[in-house]
Amino acid sequence: MNVEFLGTGGYHPDAHRHTTCVLLPDRGLCIDAGSAFFRAPDRLSEHGVTELDLVLTHAHLDHIVGLTFPLVHIERGTLTAVRIHGRKKKLDAVREHLFANDLFPIIPQVYEWLPLPDVESGSLDVAGGTLHFREQTHPGGSLGLRFDADGKRFAFCTDTVPEAATADFAADADLFAHECNFPDGWEDLGARTGHSTLTPTLDLARQVRAKRTLLVHVSPGACDPADPVGLGDVTNPPPFTAVAVDGLQATL
Ligand SMILES: [Zn+2]
Ligand SMILES: [Zn+2]
Repeated sequence: MNVEFLGTGGYHPDAHRHTTCVLLPDRGLCIDAGSAFFRAPDRLSEHGVTELDLVLTHAHLDHIVGLTFPLVHIERGTLTAVRIHGRKKKLDAVREHLFANDLFPIIPQVYEWLPLPDVESGSLDVAGGTLHFREQTHPGGSLGLRFDADGKRFAFCTDTVPEAATADFAADADLFAHECNFPDGWEDLGARTGHSTLTPTLDLARQVRAKRTLLVHVSPGACDPADPVGLGDVTNPPPFTAVAVDGLQATL
């Protein structure tokens, strides 16, 4: 299983990170269409893939703004189908607001809107594997995701606080990506915005017992860009834990 982290920043892009987009290029599977979504069509073309299944964790702007980007690729015929999976309420919100006539008047014809089952947690067979989802704590809600395929497990949990249920959901993942929007010391803003800080996120990662942990959705501006959540100051982090950066590729 090949996983490419095209966008690893939280809330807004900076010189180092665009906002959330994770691509499994050879499977035509993508999670979220943040500002890094502009990178997806070329990565798919390199693998000869023209159809995409896109799963939206939620509809906050930093996860959907890129849905307006692929028009040229669609016109050129290099992207022929985009199946967009998400909560019905979030899909409706994207069409009503992002594609409002006064904001962006064209909805690409190849976009197909596919609501996930209206259950707290469930699964979907897609891209040669099984995508599991569960509702997370976040303003308006967000989906934690886990993709199981070919005996490998990739868990992706962003836009949430560290939750005990995530330890079971993501247990023993080959790769566990969890948001760490803020360094320690930003707990108040974390609580108000439904985001994570470093120490509780690392505690959760220890419970997951993943082979490898990546911190994603790191907020620009709170810390040194070279160490955006202060991971370098932690004396005993979980093994094989790092902060993701745009362009990082993982093979499970
Ligand atoms: Zn976000
Ligand atoms: Zn959010």
